[in-house]
Amino acid sequence: MIPAPFTYRRASSVDEALDLAAQSDEDAKFLAGGHSLVPLMKLRLAAPSTLIDIGRIGDLSHISEADGHIAIGAMVTHDQIARSRVLAASVPLLADAAGRIGDPQVRHCGTIGGSLAHADPAADLPAVMLALDATLVVRGSSGDREVMASDFFLGLFETALAPGELLTVIRVPKPASAGWSFQKFSKRGIDWAIVGVAVQGNNVALVNMGSTPLRATATERVLASGSGPHEAAANAAEGTNPPTDLNAPRTYREHLARVLVRRALEEAGSRA
Ligand code: FAD
Repeated sequence: MIPAPFTYRRASSVDEALDLAAQSDEDAKFLAGGHSLVPLMKLRLAAPSTLIDIGRIGDLSHISEADGHIAIGAMVTHDQIARSRVLAASVPLLADAAGRIGDPQVRHCGTIGGSLAHADPAADLPAVMLALDATLVVRGSSGDREVMASDFFLGLFETALAPGELLTVIRVPKPASAGWSFQKFSKRGIDWAIVGVAVQGNNVALVNMGSTPLRATATERVLASGSGPHEAAANAAEGTNPPTDLNAPRTYREHLARVLVRRALEEAGSRA
């Protein structure tokens, strides 16, 4: 329950955070809301030699509207996303999903950047980013690079971020199609999804159905052929590899995916 010793550094700008990372060992970690990293450190499942606190970098805490997309700083909290009028009007899927993460304490501390960089397949926002075709802006020693959400999640807790790279901004295109839905099945409100589904138009993404967030490609194919929610949802588990754990066996997750995808497509259809 007590973390291994580490050096604490606080950055006041993105450049300073990158400099501190460059001066530290490869295992240094950025500290955002701390709601995923600190529990792992207490369990000694993570033991970074240096923590670089990015919590005071004001530049990373904005939500702004630009041509055709919304730019969200990596340090924007789940609560700020849930309460954002801009997002409620333009990207309600994201605002709704963020408002259903954990409990108020988690939403006030947890950040979108932390959630995406942590890449927990049970987390909600990674799948939402897939459904929204978001672009992630990553800054390293050689400048900015853009990574599509579909290329960002590489494996269990593994992303396209190189050591020392900082996720700075998430660009979410304003959806062309209005229909959206977020479905989350969990035992209690505070829990992670046993299975979750994010739908935006004909994009369908799944939470906790594999080692990364996944697009339900078989469902999307059936939808594109003109079939309705019922037929499309029957294929929701195709190509997935859900875990068996204390919450549910694999077969139950496959069943849930079919049920939740159908509900999500029906709800999205009613909003289109
Ligand atoms: P941190 O814990 O600070 O960091 C997580 C990882 O990301 C670390 O490796 C860190 O180095 C890295 N990192 C952080 N920011 C950056 C950045 N800008 N660039 C590069 N690397 C970065 N999540 C859900 O999706 N759904 C839930 O229902 C849910 N329920 C929860 C319930 C509880 C009780 C708790 C404690 C957490 C829950 N979470 C849930 C997770 C929560 O959303 C976390 O806050 C989030 O996953 C991580 O965000 P953070 O800002 O706390 O990141």
